[in-house]
Formats: sequence, C-alpha cells, structure tokens
Amino acid sequence: YAAKKTGGRVLRYDTALDRQASEHAELGAELRTALDESQFFMAYQPIVALPSGETVAVEALVRWRHPLRGLVSPADFVPVAEHNGLIVELGAWILRESCARMAHWRATLGADAPQRVSVNVSARQLSEPGFAESVAAVLADTGLPPRHLVVEVTETAVFDSDTALDTLRAVRALGVRIALDDFGTGHSSLGLLQTAPVDILKVDKSFVDHVGTPGRQAVIARALIDVSNHLQLTAIAEGVETAAQAEELYRLGYRFVQGYLYGRPAPDLVRSSGQHQLTAWTTTV
Ligand code: C2E
Ligand code: MG
Ligand code: MG
Ligand code: MG
Repeated sequence: YAAKKTGGRVLRYDTALDRQASEHAELGAELRTALDESQFFMAYQPIVALPSGETVAVEALVRWRHPLRGLVSPADFVPVAEHNGLIVELGAWILRESCARMAHWRATLGADAPQRVSVNVSARQLSEPGFAESVAAVLADTGLPPRHLVVEVTETAVFDSDTALDTLRAVRALGVRIALDDFGTGHSSLGLLQTAPVDILKVDKSFVDHVGTPGRQAVIARALIDVSNHLQLTAIAEGVETAAQAEELYRLGYRFVQGYLYGRPAPDLVRSSGQHQLTAWTTTV
C-alpha cells in the first residue's frame, strides 16, 4: 500500500472516497425499494411576497424516510437517483404528488391556498422524450390548471442539453411557468436569458447570504434584481434567514423571498385559526 507508506493523510482520503462510493452504491440499490414501498414524501416551503409576507407559492421538496437511516437529505440521494436513472420515475411521482396536493389545497383552502406549486425537475427528466406531454397528462389527471404550476430547472440542466430549451418551450406553451434555480452558480449566460423560455430567476442563497455586506457576492444580488426587472422576469431570493437580509433585499427591489425566516419545508399546510392570511405549518422536515 503506497498510500500507507506516505502517511495517514492519503490513507484517510482513500478510505473516505471508498466509503462514499459504497454508500452511493447502497443508496442507489435502496432507492428502488424506497419507491416501491412509498418511503418518499413531499415537503413544501413557502415563497412569500414582500412586504405583506403573504405565501404566494410553495416549493415542493422531496424527502426520504429511510427505515434504518431515518430522514435522508435530497442533497445526498437526488444525485444518486440522477446517476442511476431512477430520477425519471421518482420525478414523475414528485410531479404528480405535488400537483395533486396543490389541487387539494385549492379545493380545501380556497382563496387562502398558495397560487403556485414549484416543482424541481432534473436534467435527466428534461431530456426524457415526451416530458412536456407527461406534464400535460399530470395536469389533466389532477385537474390542476397549468397556471398553478412552476417547473424549476437549473441553468446547467438547460444550457448543457440541446433539447432542453425546446422541451421547456413546450412546457411553457401549456401555461406552466419556468424558474431557473440556483441562478448565478452554474454556467450563467445573461445573454441567453433574453431568449430562454424563463419566467422566474431564483437567486441562489450564496448571494443572498451576503446582501448588505461590502463584499463581492453582495454585488451579484444587486445586479440580478436589475437584470430580472429589465428582462421582465420575477426574481425570488433563496435562503433568506435573517430580518436584516430581508430588509436589504426589499430595499434592493426584491419582492419575493424564500427561506427559513419565513418557514421551513413542512409536509402540509393548514389554515391558522383567526388569521385572515393563512397557513400555519405543521412539523417541519
Ligand atoms: P433547491 O431546489 O435549491 O432547494 C432549496 C433548498 O434550500 C432546500 O433544501 C431547502 O430546504 C433549503 N433552504 C430553504 N431555505 C433555506 C434557508 O433559509 N437556509 C438554508 N440553509 N437552507 C434553506 P433541500 O430540501 O435539502 O433540497 C436540496 C436540493 O435537493 C434542492 O435544492 C434540489 O436541488 C434538490 N431537490 C430537493 N427536492 C427535489 C425534488 O423533488 N426533485 C429534484 N429533482 N431535486 C430536488
Ligand atoms: Mg429548487
Ligand atoms: Mg434553489
Ligand atoms: Mg439553491
């Protein structure tokens, strides 16, 4: 073992990599069972308007309740599902479940229901032939009017594929809105934004974290609200955690925010008694 001879550091590094690889392989195999045994569920996080604080939309975020590991983060298992292709089947379930839930809220909460549900869609799903048709079918089956759905994709998913733009155009033609997620962290091409079929820019938390500070990242959040306004896109600031950030974002021109300050993802939302405006969130996950 060369690594052993050169010292503990290299050895530890190899071991960590091995452990990660076998962990991935294990998770990958378990994802199949998880789908068959309904171990996934959806959580919803509010997207609120400023200054009212009204919940105008929710983002649907998948959760995995593993029988032994407990809650597994999507940051850990979504990349694995993307890698082994199971994201296509899981993603189809996510879309159907989220649209059905949104239709249910509209029926039960009426005017208090959020206006839209925003569903994350992976590059792998976008490049699947017939994706737009499958969205249309889910909307028809669940009875959800298309204007109540947003499809969230990352810049990387859009700009890395030849067909993604056409697919998004077809989805948008249904009346569904398109959001670019984690904007600013991928291969951002401001030029393409002019022609891309996009309605919403979700400005990544890494920029939001620095608003109100003198550093370089703060400049990006400032620039992106101007770009959004000029291109008539709706900007949503992600990962807002403090009131000071919210105030600064509002001052910069942001009118839509999402983050722990307003609510963590939760499996359901209910009307809170005595409040006109809506929704107390049940247990967060
Ligand atoms: P994302 O789409 O950018 O989702 C936002 C993530 O930020 C969520 O993490 C959310 O819980 C977290 N977040 C929201 N507000 C705050 C905050 O104020 N502070 C901090 N620290 N975090 C905040 P989550 O649910 O763990 O999801 C992580 C990522 O996994 C998502 O990032 C998305 O890329 C992926 N993902 C989650 N659900 C789905 C899904 O249903 N389908 C697909 N394809 N990917 C998903
Ligand atoms: Mg998202
Ligand atoms: Mg995001
Ligand atoms: Mg993000």
